[in-house]
Amino acid sequence: MKKTVISIKTHSRNEMINITSEISRIAAEWQIDDGHLLLHVPHTTAAVTINENADPSVKHDFLLGLDRISPVLKQFQHLEGNSDAHIKSSIIGCTQDIIISEGKMLLGTWQGIYFCEFDGPRTRRLYIILA
Ligand code: ZN
Repeated sequence: MKKTVISIKTHSRNEMINITSEISRIAAEWQIDDGHLLLHVPHTTAAVTINENADPSVKHDFLLGLDRISPVLKQFQHLEGNSDAHIKSSIIGCTQDIIISEGKMLLGTWQGIYFCEFDGPRTRRLYIILA
């Protein structure tokens, strides 16, 4: 099994970071013709997703929408005060499967891969595993 880990520095409490070129670079470096890259976020207040990479306002709206789905509630009991972030992490999920076909990631024209921070700023890790 081939595996690597990258470090991602986040700058805001909620943030989406486009990591498409970094994942593409690793796929090229590993010379994968056909296969899967499993992306795994080993954190409980972050996530990884695939979404639009054309209009930057989509990131803003995505995070605003998540704030509506999982607002900070004064009734939360978790002492860290980041229950909203734990909920967002589980909604979006901590893994993504990227299909590589004929040496290229099978992403649509408008799709990008995003690391999602919900309790930053922090330095995070992302595992990339050839499956
Ligand atoms: Zn917590």
